[in-house]
Amino acid sequence: MYNRNFRNSSRSRFAKGSSFRPQAGGFPRPQSGGLPRAYSSASPRAGSRGRRVFTNPGLRINVNRFINRATPQEAVAPYNAIHRFQDFAIHQTIKQNITRVGYETPTAIQDQTIPLILEGKDVIGVANTGTGKTAAFLIPLIHKAATFRQEKFLVIVPTRELAHQIQDEFVRFSQTLGLSSVVIIGGMGMGNQIRALRRNPTAVIGTPGRLKDLIERKVLYPSNYRTVVLDEADRMLDMGFITDIRFMLALLPSPRQTLLFSATLSSEIDALTRQFQNNPIKISAVTGVTPSAIDQNIVRFGTEESKVELLHDLLKQSEFEKVLVFGQTKHGVERLSKDLNERGFKAASIHGNKTQSARQKALNLFKQNDISILVATDVAARGLDIPHVSHVINYDIPASYDDYVHRIGRTGRAGNTGKALTFVR
Ligand code: AMP
Repeated sequence: MYNRNFRNSSRSRFAKGSSFRPQAGGFPRPQSGGLPRAYSSASPRAGSRGRRVFTNPGLRINVNRFINRATPQEAVAPYNAIHRFQDFAIHQTIKQNITRVGYETPTAIQDQTIPLILEGKDVIGVANTGTGKTAAFLIPLIHKAATFRQEKFLVIVPTRELAHQIQDEFVRFSQTLGLSSVVIIGGMGMGNQIRALRRNPTAVIGTPGRLKDLIERKVLYPSNYRTVVLDEADRMLDMGFITDIRFMLALLPSPRQTLLFSATLSSEIDALTRQFQNNPIKISAVTGVTPSAIDQNIVRFGTEESKVELLHDLLKQSEFEKVLVFGQTKHGVERLSKDLNERGFKAASIHGNKTQSARQKALNLFKQNDISILVATDVAARGLDIPHVSHVINYDIPASYDDYVHRIGRTGRAGNTGKALTFVR
C-alpha cells in the first residue's frame, strides 16, 4: 500500500527528537524506566494516592495502563460452551446460515443468552466489544421473526456504522428466510428510510435521534415492536441519548421483550433496566478490563512536528498492514489523513463532519483492504467490527480509560492477537 519511492525524500525528516527508534521485528519494547515528560510531579491530583497523573486537559490516565504484553492466546483458557449451535431450538435455515458464516461454537455470551432470549426473557448482557454479542441477540430474534411472521424488532445503537454492521449480520443470518431490515440513521436522506419503513420490515436498526424523529413524524410506530434491543447502552448514555431512549421505551408496547447490552453497568443503566425491563437476567461475558490478546505499548514523541514523522516511520514498516489511527478532533483527523496521503500512504478518514455515505465509503475501502490506514475520531469508530486490524494507534490520547479500551478493542478480535500503540509526549 505504501509508496516506497516517496519514502526516500522524507527520510531526513524522521523523528530526530523522538526517543523511539523502530527496531528489527518492529514492535517497540515497553518503556518502563522514567516517566514521560507530560507527567507532572508538581501537582498530583486528589484521589491519585500520590501517583503521578497525566496533566493534559481532561486526562487522568496513568500511561503505564497503556503498556501490556499480550497473553499468548494458547495460555488463555478457552471458553467451554455448553451448547452447540445445532442444539439451539432455532429454525434449520438459521443453523445452515450460521454454518455458512463459519461460526463453529457459540461464544460465552451467545452460549448463555441465546436460550434465555428464545424463552422470551429480558436479558442484560454485560459484554465488551468483540465477544460476539451481535449474533447473541440476532440469532434468537431472527428465529422469532421467522416463526411468527408478525414479530418485528427494533435495535437501538449509538452509531451509524454499528447500525450498518448489525444489518450486515442480519442479512447473513436470515438468508433465504424472506425477512427484511432497514437502517434508520441520521446523515442520510429520509425518503428511502420512510419508504422502507412503509414496507413493514422485520428489523429496524437505528440511532436514537433519527428513530425519534420518525416516530414524531408518525412514520415509525413503536407499538408495532414487541422486542427491543439496546446495544452498547453505556455508549448511548455517554453520548447523551438518555432522553431519546426513555422517550422511545415509554412508547413500546407491554408486555414486550427488552434486551440490553453494555460493556459496563453504571447506576444510570441500572435505573434504566429497573424502569424498562421485566425481571431481567444478567449474563456477564466481559473478558477483562484490558483485552489480554492485545500487545500494548507507548511511543514517546518530542514535538508535534516529530509526532507525524514518528507515525510515518511506523506505518512504513511491513508489519503495520492494516492500521486504525485515532485522533481527538474532527479537524485533526482530517488533516492527518490528508498528510498521510501526501506522504504516499493510502489513508482515509471517518469523523462526524463527514456525510454518512462518505464515512461508509471510507470504512468499506478499509474493510476491503483498498486502503491500509483509517484515521478516526472515537465517535465514528464505536462498535466497528473490522476484520484483521493489525494495529491501533492512539495518535492522540483518549479522553478516558474506557475510551482507550474501546479503541484498542478494534484489534485482537475474534481470537487474533493485535497491537496497540499510544503516542505519549
Ligand atoms: P461482535 O462482538 O458481535 O462485534 O463480534 C465480534 C467478531 O466475532 C465478529 O467478527 C464476529 O463475526 C465474530 N464472531 C461472533 N460470534 C462468533 C462465533 N461463534 N464464532 C466465531 N466468530 C464469531
